[in-house]
Amino acid sequence: MFDLGARLKDPIDFSIGQPHFPVPQPVKDAAIQAIRDDQNRYTVTQGLPELNEAVLEQVERRTGVRCESSCVTSGVAGGLTLGMLALLDEGDRILIPDPYFVCYRNLAAMLSLEPVCYDTYPDFRITDERLEAGMDERVKVLLVNTPSNPTGRTLTVEELKTIAAFAKRHDLVVITDEIYDAFSYDGPVPSILSFYDQVLLLSGFGKTYGMPGWRLGYAVGPDEVIERMRTLQQFSFVCAPAPLQHAALAALQVDMTPNVEDYAKKRDFIHDGLSDVLEIVKPNGAFYAFPRVPGGLSAEAFVEKAVARNLLLVPGKAFSRVDTHMRLSFALPDEKLEKGVAILRELAAEASAEAGGAA
Ligand code: PMP
Repeated sequence: MFDLGARLKDPIDFSIGQPHFPVPQPVKDAAIQAIRDDQNRYTVTQGLPELNEAVLEQVERRTGVRCESSCVTSGVAGGLTLGMLALLDEGDRILIPDPYFVCYRNLAAMLSLEPVCYDTYPDFRITDERLEAGMDERVKVLLVNTPSNPTGRTLTVEELKTIAAFAKRHDLVVITDEIYDAFSYDGPVPSILSFYDQVLLLSGFGKTYGMPGWRLGYAVGPDEVIERMRTLQQFSFVCAPAPLQHAALAALQVDMTPNVEDYAKKRDFIHDGLSDVLEIVKPNGAFYAFPRVPGGLSAEAFVEKAVARNLLLVPGKAFSRVDTHMRLSFALPDEKLEKGVAILRELAAEASAEAGGAA
């Protein structure tokens, strides 16, 4: 889809997984300044001490929990890789909600782990029953993602308490991927960290500040786990990009509220523009929605029809074992959103007319 997006002339690209706004100017300036100031050597593996301190403080402000330790990682993808390596041995199982962010299952498989998915359709809620359905004695880690890519759903306090009780009962470590924590439209994003102590929290700078290409993330959690991750980082990524760590410190001073308020309006526009023609769970975070494909079509077939009209979407099977839904990103200028919603409404009307004709 990314390749197709690059080849099509001026597509309406609902498939993108990154914010559409630029990096704030003071943060760009800080990066340029850091390079000019010769901050181009390795940093210590775990990242600049002052950045680690700032990250621990930020997580404490958000969750009320001061974690023992932290590490700056090469993107959240780097944190996921190191976290899985640190917490799991070959053949161990990791429990993943379906739908899931694309890389979870493949990364686990790449590390010789066994990803086990449990179903959260159609409302994408995590319940004790759903968790138990995926559980067995080889599961050692539970992975959660809030707000979620691809659903845009934020886990509620009630769900987090259920997850904490489940993890405690089965003696599991929870990895929580909160990369979209800044993109929250109906109140702050609660974290499992506030309800359970065996938690590795991953988040980062890429989405919040529009700098996914800078490869900056962080991990916070128990000393013992972070220590193992630092050792593994030393032998793999070595450190996150050094001059950009200095810029990340500047980023933490920037108020991104106006961007988030803008995205809240986009969320409303997408939801209100589609909810009468598509089955859609209202997203309350991130910048995605994951509606059901209408008319009983596979997502792949529906996406093909959309591409024929210059609209790009990602079929649900990229995020799931089934292909019944599609991911759309609303991280786009308003005029593109308007055009995309109009096309989706036409396609939905056609799909349901065809389904009606067939019945
Ligand atoms: N987790 C989720 C849920 C994501 O959506 C992404 C990026 N799309 C990542 C992790 C990877 O983030 P990064 O670019 O910081 O490695």
